[in-house]
Amino acid sequence: ADLLAGSGAYGGLTDQDRIFTNLYGEQDWRLKDALKRGDYHLTKEIMCMGPDWIVQEIKDSVYADVVEPESDGRPSFLVVNADESEPGTCKDREIMRKDPHKLIEGCLLSGYAMRARAAYIYIRGEYFNEAVVLDEAIHEAYAAGLIGKNACGSGYDFDVYLHRGAGAYICGEETALIESLEGRTGKPRLKPPFPLVLDCLDVLPPLPMGTKLFAISGHVKNPMVVEESMSIPLQELIEKHCGGMRNGWDTLQACIPGGSSVPVLNKAQCDEALMEFDDLRAKGSGLGTAAVTMFDDSVDMVGAIRRLSHFYKHESCGQCTPCREGTSWLEDILIRMEKGDADKREIPMLEEISRQIEGHTICALGDAAAWPVQGLLRHFKKDIEDRIDDPSSFDPEKAFQYAW
Ligand code: SF4
Repeated sequence: ADLLAGSGAYGGLTDQDRIFTNLYGEQDWRLKDALKRGDYHLTKEIMCMGPDWIVQEIKDSVYADVVEPESDGRPSFLVVNADESEPGTCKDREIMRKDPHKLIEGCLLSGYAMRARAAYIYIRGEYFNEAVVLDEAIHEAYAAGLIGKNACGSGYDFDVYLHRGAGAYICGEETALIESLEGRTGKPRLKPPFPLVLDCLDVLPPLPMGTKLFAISGHVKNPMVVEESMSIPLQELIEKHCGGMRNGWDTLQACIPGGSSVPVLNKAQCDEALMEFDDLRAKGSGLGTAAVTMFDDSVDMVGAIRRLSHFYKHESCGQCTPCREGTSWLEDILIRMEKGDADKREIPMLEEISRQIEGHTICALGDAAAWPVQGLLRHFKKDIEDRIDDPSSFDPEKAFQYAW
């Protein structure tokens, strides 16, 4: 809370300021070491203060706009979204790998605050090792009396279940996740009603302060997940933790700063970018999942975004026409543009298709497919035109130089 109550301006961060990562050292994920790190410390005492007290504490902190769970007498369940499937994003994986007990303790306290009797953790199917670790940690917590009957000696019964997904990106969308958990096909529901969202592991979206887990990949010397202050300059983030770009900052061509669903930044914007919501939004992009993908000048950006379009086409659940048809059109046009086998009149057409998808679909996958294409057209339109003028400049080898 002290950290979150800070000024919001970027300052130095010591290891002790980090909440989730970089504190592990030689310790491992098992309960013995988790207790040394402070997991389950005073959990019983906090629970003994009652659910209303916990909710009030959260409301009194900077999370002033937290939504208070409503009780209508029906049983409620806590669902944890661990279906981390966005390209480049692997920050939750870090927590599940290295400190699963922090997640389990978070489930207990959040669930208790909302008077839920059970938590369901929905983990991405491909996270096999993490599921094994988490499963074992849940067993440890049951055996130690931390969850289950009379959890932590509080008199409250609370179960934690782990559910593995089957590899569909769309199941990370909250309502599709619930459909999948309930045994149906994982397709997003029309909203409202909205499931109540408690953001217990990460920072709430509007806050320009506190720490954030950044998953950094692409053409840096050392790709990594690191917990850093919000508002850190992008260049400092890359140079301080990743050893810089593999061939120096001057070779930087572009960056996608918030997972694959936000528009790309060009080099000039990267030079100035601060890793916070407002600054990145002002630059026409966003912080998104804080997965930072760096592209050096070896990359054919048309090919890179074409590859992303393929991903969204493949993962579309097909319920809405603009997404089902539009994502195919985006990919088809970009395949031809990458090879220079397109007409320049298709450039505004591509923009128009992306605008027709954006905001016209049931879930955010449509927007996620449209925004990277819009970013490409904003910053790399000349590359597309040059390729159409000179198709021989297409280098199939370069097409494989993606950062993903
Ligand atoms: Fe399915 Fe795409 Fe519609 Fe989302 S936007 S519901 S993924 S068709």
